[in-house]
Amino acid sequence: MKREETEIRREKERNKEMERDFDFLLPHGRILERQNRFLKFELRGTNETFVRVLKRIMISEVPTIAIDLVFIDTNSSVLEDRFLTRRLTLVPLTSHRATSMYYPSECPNCNGKGYCHRCSVVFRLSAKCVTNQTLDVTSNDLVSSDPAVVPFDFGSGGTVIVKLGQGEEVKLKAIARKGIGEVKGKWSPVTSASYFRPAEVRINEELMETLTLEQKKDWVASCPANMFQIDPRTQKVVVSDPEVYPYDEKVIWKAEAMGKPGLVEMCEKKDSFIFTVETTGALKASQVLMKAIQILKQNVISMHLMDDKYIDGLFAGLVSDMQELVIID
Ligand SMILES: [Zn+2]
Repeated sequence: MKREETEIRREKERNKEMERDFDFLLPHGRILERQNRFLKFELRGTNETFVRVLKRIMISEVPTIAIDLVFIDTNSSVLEDRFLTRRLTLVPLTSHRATSMYYPSECPNCNGKGYCHRCSVVFRLSAKCVTNQTLDVTSNDLVSSDPAVVPFDFGSGGTVIVKLGQGEEVKLKAIARKGIGEVKGKWSPVTSASYFRPAEVRINEELMETLTLEQKKDWVASCPANMFQIDPRTQKVVVSDPEVYPYDEKVIWKAEAMGKPGLVEMCEKKDSFIFTVETTGALKASQVLMKAIQILKQNVISMHLMDDKYIDGLFAGLVSDMQELVIID
């Protein structure tokens, strides 16, 4: 009995330790810049493992919808069938419906055949050039069976799929399905995702004041990230936003070259990361982030390390930090 109690106590201690570690890993977040397909945010109080996992999930585990199968009826264009097919598979399709769609192999409605409305969307394309002017067939010419799943509108008249000369024709049917980037790159919602540790910067004010205005301008211009600026009123050099720039030695070298070593001190912040992500248009960048956080949470739950409610509580902080994204989208 005594031995059992000791075992239980040890088990509890181990779990507590694990919870503490995990608690530390979960960062606080802050949105720095946001556009439809672009997001820049900060994650604080975490380590690189967490950030790397989040990046991987964004690229390869957030599902989207993409053209997966093409049946060509007519193609008299100069583009071979396989190139035409490839171009179609790369057209970003608005994918917020992916969450409620089935993966084709898991669809209970069509027994995994992948052809019903709950696991696929049908596109038709029919175009013929009847004049002597070249006809651009674009993603806007794709007619979808589901108004919620359409080619992403870049606002530039659609992506050109094929150009038709006089008398040439293209007629086809395409099936789009839900998938993830881990299986094939065309399903990844992300075109680029990267992060860096921001720099902690301290200007030696006294030494800085020994510089003439021209010298200050010269030194400020040596920073490619435009981290510093000159206050037009006081003519003092200030850091424009100390928390969002990567560590960069160029300004230190420049100060040394000017005979002013120690003009600025810089070091990398250890527990802060600035993350930028840009999407294909299939999903908004904010949707990719929120979905990735949700997937990460599910992955942790499936590891059965901790009580589900406890995990909910842990993630609530991060989700609430990013909440403005959910409210506005
Ligand atoms: Zn189905």
